[in-house]
Amino acid sequence: MVKSITDCAVLNNRVKMPWLGFGVFLSPPGDTTYRSVRIALETGYRHIDTAKIYENEEDVGRAIRDSGIPREEIFVTTKVWNSDMRAGTVRQAFDLSRKKLGMDVIDLYLVHWPVPDKYVETYKILEKLYQEGKVRAIGVSNFLVHHLETLLPQVEVVPTVDQVEWHPWLQLPDLYQFSREKKIQLEAWGPLIQGHGAEIPLLHEIGKKYGKSWAQVLIRWDLQREVVTIPKSNTPSRIKENADVFDFELSAEDMAAINALDQNKRVAADPDNFDF
Ligand code: NAD
Repeated sequence: MVKSITDCAVLNNRVKMPWLGFGVFLSPPGDTTYRSVRIALETGYRHIDTAKIYENEEDVGRAIRDSGIPREEIFVTTKVWNSDMRAGTVRQAFDLSRKKLGMDVIDLYLVHWPVPDKYVETYKILEKLYQEGKVRAIGVSNFLVHHLETLLPQVEVVPTVDQVEWHPWLQLPDLYQFSREKKIQLEAWGPLIQGHGAEIPLLHEIGKKYGKSWAQVLIRWDLQREVVTIPKSNTPSRIKENADVFDFELSAEDMAAINALDQNKRVAADPDNFDF
């Protein structure tokens, strides 16, 4: 049971990754991201999720340095973007991310999307970065079961993490099961359904029982499903609200009611059909 903001999932290579992280997708580069990450760190988050394509790695790195918190106490994820996979510039992209973040070692480096005909060779480059000690863990993002089934027989290092769109409307039961069997930690992006969670009356009803918001119910539901979760906000009160999820536990009945909301419904791009 996850009891505090610093509690960690233990990845398949024994690296520890905090169950709750702070996402910065669509967090504007510059002062907005810088301030949000500073507030997140002051609130107690010790895990930040960025990507080259978010164009805010520099701000994340600066906020971490200025926080005064030892680097090794903060888990940082970034990702290689699709255009670099297609152009064959994965290593250059990695070095650029490291430079922008101002970090020698990245905690987790992910293949951002399963670009057809490119994701296996990209992952093999990540394996080399891992073997060279430049990343503490490697993994994938937006990989469905069939992508993993293609990848696994061709590589040596089992991905530590698969970061996918995951929330009550999209619970991907086959991937949930498969990733557990293979010891690949599932990580939820869009855990608040990119804001659409507010439209689900059940989450408000459940929240009332515990004195919590619909967003807190969703984050707690992730933790109790043993899925790493990385809600995003640039609003200080919400950054704090989203971290205030360690003093209650959803009952088995409430968990089941939320589980029953699955409708295989995405609010963002489909890993089998994306045009970027
Ligand atoms: P999210 O589900 O975290 O929703 C974020 C939005 O929810 C905010 O913009 C805000 O409008 C709203 N919100 C946040 N806290 C709230 C609160 N307490 N009350 C009411 N509304 C609130 O969506 P996301 O940002 O897409 O996903 C989270 C993180 O996942 C991203 O920031 C990014 O780091 C990562 N991500 C990864 C991928 C990928 O392809 N790997 C794709 C999208 C996002």
